[in-house]
Amino acid sequence: MTLVIPFDNSYARLPDRMFSRVDPTPVGAPSLIAVNAPLAHELGIDPEALGGPIGLEVLAGNAIAAGSEPIAQAYAGHQFGNWNPGLGDGRAILLGEVVDQNGQRRDIQLKGSGPTPYSRRGDGRAWLGPVLREYIMSEAMHALGVPTTRALAAVATGETVIREGYFPGAILTRIAASHIRVGTFQLFAARRDLPALEALVSHVIERHYPDAKGPSDLLRAVTKAQADLIAKWISIGFIHGVMNTDNMTVSGETIDYGPCAFMDEYHPSTVFSSIDTQGRYAYGNQPQIAVWNIAQLATALVPLMPDQDAAIEEFTEIVNSFADLYQAEWRRLMAAKIGLADTEQSFSLVNRLLKLMMDSGSDFTNTFAALQNGQARDQFTDRAAFDLWHEDWKSFAPDTALMERMNPKIIPRLHKIEAVIQSGVQGDFAPFHEMLGVVTAPFAALDELRSAYAKPPAPSERVTRTFCGT
Ligand code: AMP
Ligand code: MG
Repeated sequence: MTLVIPFDNSYARLPDRMFSRVDPTPVGAPSLIAVNAPLAHELGIDPEALGGPIGLEVLAGNAIAAGSEPIAQAYAGHQFGNWNPGLGDGRAILLGEVVDQNGQRRDIQLKGSGPTPYSRRGDGRAWLGPVLREYIMSEAMHALGVPTTRALAAVATGETVIREGYFPGAILTRIAASHIRVGTFQLFAARRDLPALEALVSHVIERHYPDAKGPSDLLRAVTKAQADLIAKWISIGFIHGVMNTDNMTVSGETIDYGPCAFMDEYHPSTVFSSIDTQGRYAYGNQPQIAVWNIAQLATALVPLMPDQDAAIEEFTEIVNSFADLYQAEWRRLMAAKIGLADTEQSFSLVNRLLKLMMDSGSDFTNTFAALQNGQARDQFTDRAAFDLWHEDWKSFAPDTALMERMNPKIIPRLHKIEAVIQSGVQGDFAPFHEMLGVVTAPFAALDELRSAYAKPPAPSERVTRTFCGT
């Protein structure tokens, strides 16, 4: 069985100061945890070969597949609002790109594959927990219809990674439309490296926004893609947790599943990340933060414009257009969640419902899922207020088929992921595979197994803090 990965690399053709050529560091005793067969097919890779002995060597970084040109990408970024001029792939290595069955160019990247010139004091490795978490989260997000990076494979390295203790090492193989971030633009703008910045703009336009004529169009396209993305996150209760500019793609895909989580009880100020002490990246702040990040992209693009004053004026308008784009998409999605078209009445009904949910601490996912079968009343403390709302809502004859399509019954709940990780650390991946199967069919009917995943955590199971994947 030969492994063929139809590499067709383009980023490695860009000016060589935009990345570093570096091979993955081999590991001692790799073993396969999971291969995503449908995704492998989509990429034109034989899943059997990928999961076989040669595939395992490639996924572990012990062998370089024919056509692969491993690089670590350089980038900078604002982390919690603070400028950091020197980030880059510190624990990830891009093996190369393929053009998939749909004609889309996709990156194949190893995450946790050893040090690179951007590792600073890090070891370039990942431990098993964040690898399993990203696998489950990103595949669940894809199944929920959210643009996202994907998980192609996970392997255990057979080596130990030192964090707060000793943990088993692992490597995730991640697929992305590209790994180009707001922070990638920021790096070359900060260095005043206009040729690199220009090359990056051309590359991104060709790859993601072929209709764009230049930086203004590019900024407009990214603004729209991010407005749609964040509206989707908000509509399913997703909290990214670390929306630094280096963790925001220009493609509009969700990237870097670190301390992310889905909310159980609805509250706009919900925060899980242990390092987000100010709540900068709280659930309800995400649209504002996206605007802030897009403003940093705009700033990075200004030096490319012939008339900089005019550019600042135009870019300000584009960045400010986020609010309306976001609002329109949010209204459309939320109205559809209650089975209605977006009108002033549905807008008011959505806001009334959210207020009642917030006051009751209702489970975000289960409340919407229960509305169509008349079971939502249990989610509210003020039942009289809910009954009133319910009567008003029913008078608009909501479309229950639409609600079925919009409201997932299952999201990857934090306490379930934690249990999967605990088992994985003991070498038992059965719970991981079980959970993956359940969360990748989020709209399917509940049976006994799936019902266990739909339940919010019992008080003893609650997880209130998440940690970065380092
Ligand atoms: P993240 O928290 O994934 O957004 O990472 C922020 C930066 O830290 C990126 O430049 C990463 O490549 C780098 N980094 C995170 N963990 C490690 C690690 N274990 N070794 C080296 N670099 C790391
Ligand atoms: Mg990152």
